[in-house]
Amino acid sequence: MSQMKTLTAGLAAGLAASTLFAGLYGDTPDAKHAWSVHDANRPNPAKITAEPGQPPSDAVVLFDGTSLDNWTSTKPGEPTKWKLADGALESVKGAGYIRTKQEFGDCQLHIEWAAPANVQGVGQGRGNSGVFLMGSYEIQVLDSYETATLPDGKNLNPNYADGQASSVYAENPPLVNACRKPGEWQTYDIVFHQPVWENGKLKYPGSVTVLHNGVLTQDHWEMEGMTTHCRRRPLAPHAAKLPLQLQDHGNPVRFRNIWIREIPSRYANTTHGGPAANEADVMALRKATAAKLFEAVNPGDANKAAALGRILEVVSYDKADAYMNVVGSLRDAYLKELAACDAQKLKDRKGEIIGVRNACNVLIRNKVLPEECTLRAALQRIITEHKLEKK
Ligand code: MG
Repeated sequence: MSQMKTLTAGLAAGLAASTLFAGLYGDTPDAKHAWSVHDANRPNPAKITAEPGQPPSDAVVLFDGTSLDNWTSTKPGEPTKWKLADGALESVKGAGYIRTKQEFGDCQLHIEWAAPANVQGVGQGRGNSGVFLMGSYEIQVLDSYETATLPDGKNLNPNYADGQASSVYAENPPLVNACRKPGEWQTYDIVFHQPVWENGKLKYPGSVTVLHNGVLTQDHWEMEGMTTHCRRRPLAPHAAKLPLQLQDHGNPVRFRNIWIREIPSRYANTTHGGPAANEADVMALRKATAAKLFEAVNPGDANKAAALGRILEVVSYDKADAYMNVVGSLRDAYLKELAACDAQKLKDRKGEIIGVRNACNVLIRNKVLPEECTLRAALQRIITEHKLEKK
């Protein structure tokens, strides 16, 4: 914080607290980052409410125990024949898959399910359903409470690992078996990013993270394909948004408390940038921020340090010639003003002078301004000559 304190202390007199060169504190924006480190210009996240056991305020509630209005059959034109029973949504044998009427892409999904209390069958025939993200990627729903082989060598519920509850079906088993007993309610909390295609080529395979009853079972698993049985079916492009589906596998599996939140793709996240950010989007946001900040730059400002600070902040986002020209004219005006100050006046303004010098240092360190920056050199000469900085 020390540099920020120095920067702000000297300039506070001339500037509102909220505009203290926020973009000139940490490392400046670059090709992958639209904001500087600790950038106070960066928008704060939207405020939501998240009460225990309740859907977050920005979630789309898909099932709250009262109606099937948000769901329909995957068979065109047919209403769902799944049952609403005791506040739960129950799969009905032969009724077919159901899907949401609304379509979703990247998402956070919360869903609760229970295998039948009086569970019947073994393996894939035992409390089987499934959560099909975008109708294409199945997180298995299955009674997998008993999987161990008994000491006598018998296994009451033989199964394959990549088909257990919480598996990415036919691809990846869960990290652990966190299954509760048949009849008991269980939770899935799923974070899903769909594959990203660019010009027909796979840019990113997408990923799925699953917490089963609060336990991590899929750790950012990058999808290898689209769900099918027995085969490895490669990924293929599809629409950006598709319905969420639940599987009818012939067993009366129940669901409740289903909500979903749409989340941004890392590749479309222009709010923050990051390793996967699209560089053109990042630059567009940097330019927009610079243009907005430039509106507050007044080249005729009586407080020349303040005006100079503002334009230096602008160029930390965008070094466009038009902005750099204003840097040049404000630099000249500021240095002319300082040249007319006597020793005492310079001492009185030491915080401000050191603040502008420090802003130059940040920009030089980040190669926004050249190493041989004349403004920094001139200010440093004044600081050294008049011993403005404690050593
Ligand atoms: Mg299934």
